[in-house]
Amino acid sequence: MRNIYDLTIEELEQYFLSIGEKKFKAIQLYTWLYDKKIKSFEEITDIKKTIIEKLESSFVIGDIDIVKVERDIEVNKYLFLLQDKNLIESVLMRHDYGTSICISSQVGCNIGCKFCESGRLKKVRNLTSGEMVEQILKVESDIKERITHIVIMGIGEPFDNYTNVTNFIKIVNHPKGLSIGSRHITVSTSGIIPKILEFADFPYQVNLAISLHAPNNEIRNKIMPINKVYPIEKLMESLRVYYQKTKRRITFEYIMLEKVNDDKTAAEELSKLLKGLNCYVNLIPYNETNNLEYKRSKKENIQKFYDIIKKNNINVTIRREFGTNISAACGQLRSKREDI
Ligand code: SAH
Ligand code: SF4
Repeated sequence: MRNIYDLTIEELEQYFLSIGEKKFKAIQLYTWLYDKKIKSFEEITDIKKTIIEKLESSFVIGDIDIVKVERDIEVNKYLFLLQDKNLIESVLMRHDYGTSICISSQVGCNIGCKFCESGRLKKVRNLTSGEMVEQILKVESDIKERITHIVIMGIGEPFDNYTNVTNFIKIVNHPKGLSIGSRHITVSTSGIIPKILEFADFPYQVNLAISLHAPNNEIRNKIMPINKVYPIEKLMESLRVYYQKTKRRITFEYIMLEKVNDDKTAAEELSKLLKGLNCYVNLIPYNETNNLEYKRSKKENIQKFYDIIKKNNINVTIRREFGTNISAACGQLRSKREDI
């Protein structure tokens, strides 16, 4: 049976029309699901019994479960069990501006970045939109607070699961869904060019982050094999098109890896590459993992790198660290549990 959380409002309207009902029932049902947070269709009081029975025979309300939580002051890490026994994870972070959640979009990932724990497990399957929505619902109910920001930066490559991810955005953004503003939603991609171009026409003001991690093809090819398919110059070209269409500032993520991409030459080269583009660079201290050989850049090298980017008049920040104690980096909780 289908998970009711998979459905966008349009899909739900179509469903009601297909069973001979008025489409406004979709809004009614959304209110029960996302505002009143019902656990069973029986709790609905303003839709007649025969329709409730039809809903019960076609849909389930939710199908993922929290199996483990690691708690810290500013961050909680959640491990979820899916119906088919796969595991995924989400990370909740408390900021001064609100509460953000980092959600997974796939079980595993096929992009194979060398530094990434998630990529060690090849993609098993895409997550459904409902499984993404539920990561938020389950965490909200655990913390008894509203989540204000979403980043799609957990396990998986969101642009390798484009339809489900964009439907997920429609559901969480809908005023009768979770009503999370599109400007509070960020999608992060390793740089799948055709999807970046498609996303430029997606009519929601969602933020785009690009996992760049290198200033040139030579370095990027070594750590991100996807660069051989979509090299840097083509990626930048697609981002200029994206910017022209959306006028939205682009975020570049840059993991600082010792002796790989963290010297002065790399900083100058990165500045040149990004010159003239309305963007923002997020320098990320690498979270070392037991399974991979990469090392985090030294603090003073991160600072020097930052200073060069700044001097070149590019917006830049060093990411505050969350959850290194509880191995909150992408894919680490699951891999501990599975002992892979
Ligand atoms: N697949 C998408 C989104 C998920 S990865 C992407 O690559 O953008 C989210 C971010 O976490 C990426 O920028 C990725 O490079 C980064 N990341 C992966 N492993 C990490 C680690 N061990 N430490 C710090 N950042 C990591
Ligand atoms: Fe996949 Fe992103 Fe990890 Fe690369 S960094 S392997 S794209 S999850």
